[in-house]
Amino acid sequence: MMKKLSVKNQFRLGTALILVFFCSGFSLLEYKYQKDFATQSIYKETALHLATADATRTYVKDILRPRITELLPDGEFVREAMSTTYLGREVMARIREKFPDFTYKRAAFDPVNPVNRADEFERRMLEWFRENPNRRQWSGIIKKGNHSYYAQLNAIYAEKECLTCHGDPRDAPPKMIEIYGGKGGFGYREGQVVAADAVLIPVDVMFMRIKEKAIWVFLIGGGALVFLFGFFYLLFNRTVILSLRDLITTFSSITGEETALKNVGPADEIDQLKEAFEAVASHLSSAHEDLKASETKYRRLFEASQDAILICDAGSRLEDINDAGIALFGFRNRAEALEIETFYQLFWDGRRAAALMGEIDRNGAVREYEVEMVDRVGRQMVVLITAHRRQEEGRAAGGFVAVLRDITEKRRMDKHLAQTEKLAAMGQLAAGVAHEINNPLGVISLYSNLIAKTAPADPQIQKDLKVIHKHARHCKEIVESLLRFARRSDPKKVSCDIHAVIDEVLGVLTHRLESGSIEVSRRFAADLPPVTADTGQMKQVFMNLFLNAAQAMPEGGRITVTTGFKDPGMLEVRITDTGSGIAPKDLDRIFDPFFTTKGPGAGTGLGLSVTYGIIEQHDGRIEVESAPGSGTTFVIHLPLDSVPGET
Ligand code: ADP
Repeated sequence: MMKKLSVKNQFRLGTALILVFFCSGFSLLEYKYQKDFATQSIYKETALHLATADATRTYVKDILRPRITELLPDGEFVREAMSTTYLGREVMARIREKFPDFTYKRAAFDPVNPVNRADEFERRMLEWFRENPNRRQWSGIIKKGNHSYYAQLNAIYAEKECLTCHGDPRDAPPKMIEIYGGKGGFGYREGQVVAADAVLIPVDVMFMRIKEKAIWVFLIGGGALVFLFGFFYLLFNRTVILSLRDLITTFSSITGEETALKNVGPADEIDQLKEAFEAVASHLSSAHEDLKASETKYRRLFEASQDAILICDAGSRLEDINDAGIALFGFRNRAEALEIETFYQLFWDGRRAAALMGEIDRNGAVREYEVEMVDRVGRQMVVLITAHRRQEEGRAAGGFVAVLRDITEKRRMDKHLAQTEKLAAMGQLAAGVAHEINNPLGVISLYSNLIAKTAPADPQIQKDLKVIHKHARHCKEIVESLLRFARRSDPKKVSCDIHAVIDEVLGVLTHRLESGSIEVSRRFAADLPPVTADTGQMKQVFMNLFLNAAQAMPEGGRITVTTGFKDPGMLEVRITDTGSGIAPKDLDRIFDPFFTTKGPGAGTGLGLSVTYGIIEQHDGRIEVESAPGSGTTFVIHLPLDSVPGET
């Protein structure tokens, strides 16, 4: 392939061609114009000379010769006054003395005077006039020897008057025959082309000057244009070429390819720019594709993540949230989630949020930060947050990305497991202790009874024996409840109506509650499906809970029993009292065996742990909500036999 010129050289070559073409064209036009102008002037000059010669001849023919003929005797001929040719030549010779730049000749094929004999050119012209009788004049440039001339020729026709001298020689004046001889210039016929007046003006020098002038125009004009184009070239180089090269370098740096500014090869700067541009375009297009693919990949990861992902700006305002996040906080859709003022709103305690932000700011990231958060309707949940400060390219630092995992259920399960394990261990211990104590207690009771029967009737001994007996019985009661707690016999489940169970327990406790000024309100759900449960154990559960509630309200109060369905397929029973409430430090311990806040002899601390065990054996769960002074609510969840509304 032929090497392509650089844009710079293309410009140079183009400019040079334009210069040559333009200057040559202009000079040629100038030359032609000058030449035409000069030719026209010469034409006028030759026409004037010919007109002078013609006027002289006409005067001689029409005025002078007839007058002289009258004066002279017959046969006389005075050449100086009667020959039109002679007089014409003489007058023209005199004019030439003043204006020597032309030659005049009356050329004839066969002249009377041999000096007028036509040369080669004139002979051709005379023949041409004869062949073209309607043409009386010819003018043009001719070459004679080494010189060029402008020639104008007028044809001369023989007239009637001419035939006197140039017809038959016998009719010609004898004096004329005497002067010229009778050889030439006779035999003319009227209307025949017999001669031509020819005026020639040399044009060599004039045309040479015009040519020189045209060359000067070419040189000066060319020089001026070279200067002008030189200036344009510098300007072009500065504004276009350098910019082009910069552009190519920039493009190359974008693609990372060293394609720019090749001084070899078939490409000029425009081609290189085109190549570089195409490279950039394809680079951009593939980068765009990559970006789109990566964006789609990360978007999919973001959307498909089972953990909630939140992206916040520097002002802790949500910028984006994935579906898991929307579901976690119970938002209806993304738009609703993005409307919240700040991330802080999602925390149970704003101070914890501030502490979390402080840690992200300090360390750049936090890992598995456990914190309580709330959803849109205020439900509390335990969440593990892993977050890092955003440091994206081309973006002011600030904001963070947080991955949230809801561990509420896990925490509850852990607690439940720990409680179950604790209960199992305590149960084993309790059973062991109860067995060990049961026998000595039986022995103590037996022997104290024997002593009472066999001992003398000493009232003091009888009194002491009664004390022993009473405490032994109390111990036996504790041992029995310990064994009940430890035994954990499989519940004998039957389908039962939980409302009826509650009513029965409340019926047994009526006297106790009324005497303690405690009101009971029932908010029972209608159409409650039956629950499969051990009725006896259920009675024990409600008995424990109602007695605890009553004990927490020594001054009286209200117990509210509410039943309903919150989670699908689960019965919820809420027992709320208006009692003393439970201190936060005790909340985690109330289900522990032997935990009691009641005085010695007033409580064993086994009621709630037995209750817990029974509910667990029924595949349910029990929770407590309480704060000191605001009463306590125990919530029991039990599986229903069928989903309400379905038959
Ligand atoms: P006891 O009743 O023998 O103390 P429990 O296991 O039934 O044992 O109860 C453990 C503790 O839980 C109680 O000592 C009491 O401090 C607390 N408690 C239980 N129910 C209530 C309630 N309704 N109001 C206030 N505190 C309660």
